[in-house]
Amino acid sequence: MKTKRVIIVGGGLAGLACAIELIDHGLDVTVLESSPILGGKAASWHDEDGDIVDLGLHVVTPLYEHLLELLRKVGAHENIVWRDGNYYLALRGGKVDSIRIASLPAPMHFLAGLLRYRKLSLLDRLSGLPAFAEILLSTDRHRRKFDLWTFRDWARSRGATENLVAHLFDPMVEGLMFLDCHHVSTTNVMFDLHYMLLNKESSRLGFIDGGLNEKMIAPIAGHITASGGVILTEQNVSRFRFGRNRIEALELATGEVLSADAYVAAVPVHRIQEMLPDDAFDDPYFANLCRFEPAPVIGVQLWFDRKVTDISDLILTPKCIFNAYADVSNIISEYRSRSGSIVHFVLAPAGHLLALSDRRIVRLVHEDFGDVFPVARDARVVKSTVVRTPKAFYRQYPGMEQYRPPQRTPLDNLFLAGDFTRNKYPPCMEGAVKSGQLAAECLLKAVQTGSDVPTDQ
Ligand SMILES: Cc1cc2nc3c(=O)[nH]c(=O)nc-3n(C[C@H](O)[C@H](O)[C@H](O)COP(=O)(O)OP(=O)(O)OC[C@H]3O[C@@H](n4cnc5c(N)ncnc54)[C@H](O)[C@@H]3O)c2cc1C
Repeated sequence: MKTKRVIIVGGGLAGLACAIELIDHGLDVTVLESSPILGGKAASWHDEDGDIVDLGLHVVTPLYEHLLELLRKVGAHENIVWRDGNYYLALRGGKVDSIRIASLPAPMHFLAGLLRYRKLSLLDRLSGLPAFAEILLSTDRHRRKFDLWTFRDWARSRGATENLVAHLFDPMVEGLMFLDCHHVSTTNVMFDLHYMLLNKESSRLGFIDGGLNEKMIAPIAGHITASGGVILTEQNVSRFRFGRNRIEALELATGEVLSADAYVAAVPVHRIQEMLPDDAFDDPYFANLCRFEPAPVIGVQLWFDRKVTDISDLILTPKCIFNAYADVSNIISEYRSRSGSIVHFVLAPAGHLLALSDRRIVRLVHEDFGDVFPVARDARVVKSTVVRTPKAFYRQYPGMEQYRPPQRTPLDNLFLAGDFTRNKYPPCMEGAVKSGQLAAECLLKAVQTGSDVPTDQ
């Protein structure tokens, strides 16, 4: 029997992680990526001044075991700068505070910090304890039971005050999930908070020390090609050709037709829908893909003529145009010698902002930022970038968890990967890597049993 030939469509983290697993098991892998650069939502590039631009600030946590292991494998694990682990909350009016992680065993490392957080009344702080206790003790099964609840309703039902929701949960949830507590499913929030409470290390955030492409994606891609895999960019797959319960071939936008023994679609959920023929949607597996609603995100980078903050960590701010941001001039090595601040903001959900001009968005961000850090009001923005991603995520509404598709499709030789596919993580880089590895596992199982993926001889 010849080596199995696999085509992976999509060169984001899910597709690349899948490629590594398959190559390690001796399969013949080609990755087709539509864009000129790899990385998908975790891509970065350089502007004409040589400065790094990306879709938005990306942070990792020590809980990203699959991503971190992958980076270790390709020799890129040293490219992460880890911060101290405090939660910086900045409010309008120039009030910056932090929930200081105490040197106590988990979960007291966080709870002691919360109890000392004076921006909230003692009553507000104490009102969170029943919710935190339940989250801490929760199992996967228990968390899934609350998928139909919004996190706000769930937290309120456990005694959390409206103030605690607005001033603690909302900024945390918006910063992590890009959706507020009134709309987000409880399951995914509980998942993140459970691991944060369980593990003292998990509150430490890591930043990629430079461009995502050079420091994370290029080493992964280099490992793939050095191990015999093929990666082709600017290959826009337009559709899959269906045969009897299997994919026969795929067509590129150029009209070229390519075939393999098996296919992995590692593209965003809205793109996979475009590649399938109409009758595929008769099957509930594919029909459910139409339930995913896209959530737009805008990444804004402002270069200031002076230092506007010395905080070298992620900052969360409720009730502003942005929710999460960081002054990367205090974090990324190559920027540390610069005299001014470089602040990367994430604006989400950003549907209402997509149609505004870049200039207007920059002005709104600068105005809100000046309310939080008054020194920024007088600072001049010497350069800015605005990157819109209209379909950055799916909205993690109550009830969506059940529709995340498993990596194995009803077709014998088609597998799905991507942060939206079923895995225990909310959509994020760790979920993308895990999904790619799960897709590879399903495909390898099918190859080993010989029952599903047909031989090419
Ligand atoms: C602004 C922003 C901030 C974020 N911040 C964080 C963070 O702090 N921490 C974190 O963990 N995660 C973060 N994420 C999420 C993270 O980037 C994604 O979850 C992850 O990168 C998704 O990887 P993926 O491989 O599943 O999908 P994608 O990255 O979307 O990859 C899919 C790939 O398929 C390609 N493709 C699409 N259509 C075709 C086609 N027809 N033919 C060929 N190729 C095709 C695309 O070009 C893309 O390269 C953020 C995302 C955004 C947008």
